Amino acid sequence: MREQILGLITPMMAIVFVTVFLVLWQRGKMGRYVLAFAGAYFFFALGFGATHILPDSGAFYVFHLTQAFYAAGSACVIWGAVNRVGQRVSLPALGLTYLISAITLAVAVSISAETGPRLYIVNTAYGVMFLLGTLALMQAPKSTAIDTLIIVLFAISATQFFVRPVLTLLIAGGSNATDYRESIYYSVLSVAVTIQSLMTAVTLIGACTWDKLVAERERAERDVLTGLLARRAFEQDALAIIERAKQEGVPVGLVVADIDHFKAVNDVYGHQAGDKAIAAFGTVISSMIRNSDIAGRIGGEEFCILAWNCDTDRANAMAERIRRRIGETVIAGIPADHRLTASFGVAGRREGEGYGKLFARADAELYRAKDSGRNRVCGEDGSAAPIALSVTGGLREATA
Ligand code: GH3
Ligand code: MG
Ligand code: MG
Repeated sequence: MREQILGLITPMMAIVFVTVFLVLWQRGKMGRYVLAFAGAYFFFALGFGATHILPDSGAFYVFHLTQAFYAAGSACVIWGAVNRVGQRVSLPALGLTYLISAITLAVAVSISAETGPRLYIVNTAYGVMFLLGTLALMQAPKSTAIDTLIIVLFAISATQFFVRPVLTLLIAGGSNATDYRESIYYSVLSVAVTIQSLMTAVTLIGACTWDKLVAERERAERDVLTGLLARRAFEQDALAIIERAKQEGVPVGLVVADIDHFKAVNDVYGHQAGDKAIAAFGTVISSMIRNSDIAGRIGGEEFCILAWNCDTDRANAMAERIRRRIGETVIAGIPADHRLTASFGVAGRREGEGYGKLFARADAELYRAKDSGRNRVCGEDGSAAPIALSVTGGLREATA
């Protein structure tokens, strides 16, 4: 009786994990890998449950049923962990591993009643499955300690499946199935496997929670319309980058941009077209900065770029490239002959200067660009790029 109750603890824990993963997946709107984890622990619960609830736990059909549940659970957990890190593992390969082991097992059992061959066949199959999973996980670019921990736990799983039958035969070799199940070794092994399963489950829950945190932080930091950083996130990142630039003596340049006569765009073509224009502006900026630069939407139609390792001249040149590209961009809902333009202010960071002062100088340059006719880049060297044409003049006439 005591053993029956103890035996039920494991499936009950598994059901708790199923619930946690299901809630994370459904309420947290998380990826399918979380559903796979829920599925894994559901199958493990069925496997654990079958051994302890079914009347004739030693029967061969119970053994096969249990193995089928464990194999399905293992495939789910491996598929989930590998997909979580954006890698692939072949489900047919996992299925085939199980199938080969099941067929070999049936043949082995019909030939001999010994536990030895059975142990090798079953455990090797799981070992191969977890080895495939571990190798796939190792292909992923590692980012956090949790990812490393999952790899370690998978590697331990694979190793113990390969080592377990050897140990079992050394320690409990020769004993029949019933004696084996009642041996101290079997109890120790069960406890070890349970602890390892618990550690894996807790780590996977931690990984899912971490993923959710990262996704939420990313969502809060991003501007929905443009995909650029929102103002607060841009300023925070800019402060950190400038601090690093100070320490490493690397030049940084700041570009502030503002779409010209944007109120008129909304008035003439509607707010939706205006939104599309802002989004297009964001796309142009994202496509024209390097990975080491950051860009943010800091106001309605105002944008800011902080360029790493970039002196004033190069920042001016970058702003000029973006200005030209904006002028070439056709926006849905706005006639192709009415191209939008933007004005740009540029400043390079001076010795000892922080974000506030740098921004103030770039903003002053932006005002200068607006005052001197718009659709131009003004930098601190006093230059103002010439303008080819002012289409927004046409807009003004249209609204007049
Ligand atoms: P200037 O050339 O001097 O910059 O003129 P402007 O009309 O662009 O300047 P102003 O700052 O007066 O107008 C900005 C307009 O941007 C006003 C506001 O209605 C519009 N705007 C701000 N945020 C959004 C937005 O998210 N979507 C749309 N469609 N319009 C926005
Ligand atoms: Mg404007
Ligand atoms: Mg503005």
